[in-house]
Amino acid sequence: MAFLAWGGARQLWQRYALAVMILVTLLVGGHLLHLQTLQEGAKDAETIDLSGRQRMLSQRIAGLSRSLEHPVERLTLEPALLDALQTFEKSHKELLRRSESFPSAKKIYAEGQDEGLDSQVGAFIADVRSAIALASEGSEQSLYINEIEIAAFDSLLVSLDRAVKAFTADTEARLANLERLQNLALWLALGLLALEGLFIFWPAHRSVVSALEAAEERACQLENNNNELKAMTAQLKHSANHDQLTGLANRKKLHDDLEIRLRKRAETGECICVMHVDLDRFKEINDTLGHPVGDAVLVRAAETMRSRFRKEDLVARVGGDEFVIVANIAHHADAHEAARNLAERMIARIKEPMLIDGNKCSVGASVGYVLVDDESGDSDRLIADADIALYEAKRAGKGVAVAFGDGMRNEIEQRYKLISDLERAIDAEEIIPFLQPKVALADGRVEGFEALSRWQHPEQGILPPGQFIQLAEETDLIASIDRATALGGLDALAELRAHGYDIPTLAVNASASSLRNANYVPDLKMAVAIRGLRPADIRIEVVENTLISDENDMALRSLKNLSESGFKIDIDDFGTGYASLSMLSRLQLTGLKIDRDLIDNVQNAKPRQVVEAIVGLAKGMNLEVIAEGVENAKQFSALKAVGCDTAQGFGIGRPMSLEDTLVWLENYASKPGGIATPIIVN
Ligand code: C2E
Ligand code: CA
Ligand code: CA
Repeated sequence: MAFLAWGGARQLWQRYALAVMILVTLLVGGHLLHLQTLQEGAKDAETIDLSGRQRMLSQRIAGLSRSLEHPVERLTLEPALLDALQTFEKSHKELLRRSESFPSAKKIYAEGQDEGLDSQVGAFIADVRSAIALASEGSEQSLYINEIEIAAFDSLLVSLDRAVKAFTADTEARLANLERLQNLALWLALGLLALEGLFIFWPAHRSVVSALEAAEERACQLENNNNELKAMTAQLKHSANHDQLTGLANRKKLHDDLEIRLRKRAETGECICVMHVDLDRFKEINDTLGHPVGDAVLVRAAETMRSRFRKEDLVARVGGDEFVIVANIAHHADAHEAARNLAERMIARIKEPMLIDGNKCSVGASVGYVLVDDESGDSDRLIADADIALYEAKRAGKGVAVAFGDGMRNEIEQRYKLISDLERAIDAEEIIPFLQPKVALADGRVEGFEALSRWQHPEQGILPPGQFIQLAEETDLIASIDRATALGGLDALAELRAHGYDIPTLAVNASASSLRNANYVPDLKMAVAIRGLRPADIRIEVVENTLISDENDMALRSLKNLSESGFKIDIDDFGTGYASLSMLSRLQLTGLKIDRDLIDNVQNAKPRQVVEAIVGLAKGMNLEVIAEGVENAKQFSALKAVGCDTAQGFGIGRPMSLEDTLVWLENYASKPGGIATPIIVN
């Protein structure tokens, strides 16, 4: 039955071929059977006819034999008799032969030999011949003629009659057989057709239908796959070109788009503005309120930017809190002014506080922009130029828009070189501390030293912080510099003490970046401990602005941790920042370090009053007061008079290497009674 089972489309034609072959066989078989029936029917009819005619002939012969008795009649009729007899004899032979295939007729011919039709006919013919022979001799032939007549009208006639009937009956029987056979063939054909239908056409039909259905399903699936593929491709294309968080274009799309706009610009001559935007204070929000809030701020800022520009302008996010906008500036008298207006209006909108999850978030934006109004500029250059202008905007105090100028590029290149130099210098331990002494105004006793960083440059010698600190702050390298200077300072303190000097404290500067670093406090504690020093030996100087932050700012927590561990904390450059008194009161501070600008003119009335007020405030809060930038004896006396505790400045000693510090200490200590006045006086 295996061949009946569906075995694939290629076998279908084999099934049909088989079915057709069976059909053709049945048809041809049926047809042949029919032909044979017809042929045999005709032959049988001829036999019946022949046997019927024998009956007639026997009568005729009997009749003609009677003419033998009359010489005249005999003469005319004898040839007819002979002719009839010959035909009768010939037909008899033929019938005898044919009776072989007619069972009942055959029986009649052969029956009991003597009574059989064959012997009867033989006797009849013999009688007729004898009668003819006798007649020609003129003898008595009446006996024979009587015999002939008796036979012809009695026994022979009966036998011939029976023969006719037997032939007819046999023929009918045969016909009935053939008919049965034909019926059988017909039923067989029908049965086979039904079987073909059941086992070939129906399975084939099922196969075709299911193949068609499968094909349809496959087509459907293919269509679905295709649609899915299209959707996926579109999505892939979208995510390849867009920022996931804000949905804005990404850097890749920015480049592609800008290239196209620049090519188009070559024909239309329109003015394109590329703006680089950086969010101010975003990092603080991210650090203090967490990434989800940070993300929400980015999304809002992105929406604000998008809303400030036309649909055909491009707004892209190119970094954490950095965006680039490509806008067409309508041609009018001052494209620069138009671009700046656009940027400033956007900055104003971004500055508006946002309320996110109950947190009031204030970010700002700085913008650097460049105008493309000549043929110069490929996309990379323009974005880099806008970035340079952005850097200038941030340097100019943030929250402003600055246009790119050609001179800026040089500066920025130097900046990048310096950054990589500085990174290398940190790794190469070229950052070392210089020590600047601080003395008690009351008795001149050395209160301690401040560790100030210096870059021991392999070619340029000792570089002051003014040449690298700001850059370090902008790039977060400042934490590494704080660390190097502080560790070197701790070593120096231990060394000075080892030389027998009583140096109560060492001051180190801590940037906001250091204090936000979770490792800073534990590392410092460890460094102090392994040098056999105590936390109380260390003064941490922080500038006021480090404190302007939320309560949960990491920097504040670090300071709290430090003061709780026994470290002393001084507010550096006091009087220049914006820390509130309530903020100061929340911290466990040790001292306030009055900024050099105020000390400069302390001998004059106004600044002196300010210093006096600060001293009063400090005393009220039980804080020490340190004056920095003390250069001369007048300042020294004035500060002493208003009640300052400690003085630091070139008048007492410059920041020095460890060796120079040892020399300075040697000289200072050797002054009679310990010197309470400045050593160097301008
Ligand atoms: P600062 O912390 O206020 O340090 C005092 C600065 O004033 C020092 O400059 C010092 O040389 C200078 N100075 C001291 N006395 C006088 C004086 O009588 N007259 C004048 N004209 N200047 C005086 P320096 O060493 O160049 O440091 C500049 C600033 O760099 C420091 O100001 C501090 O803010 C920063 N800095 C230095 N080292 C580090 C460090 O390791 N970490 C951090 N975060 N900042 C540092
Ligand atoms: Ca300082
Ligand atoms: Ca200072």
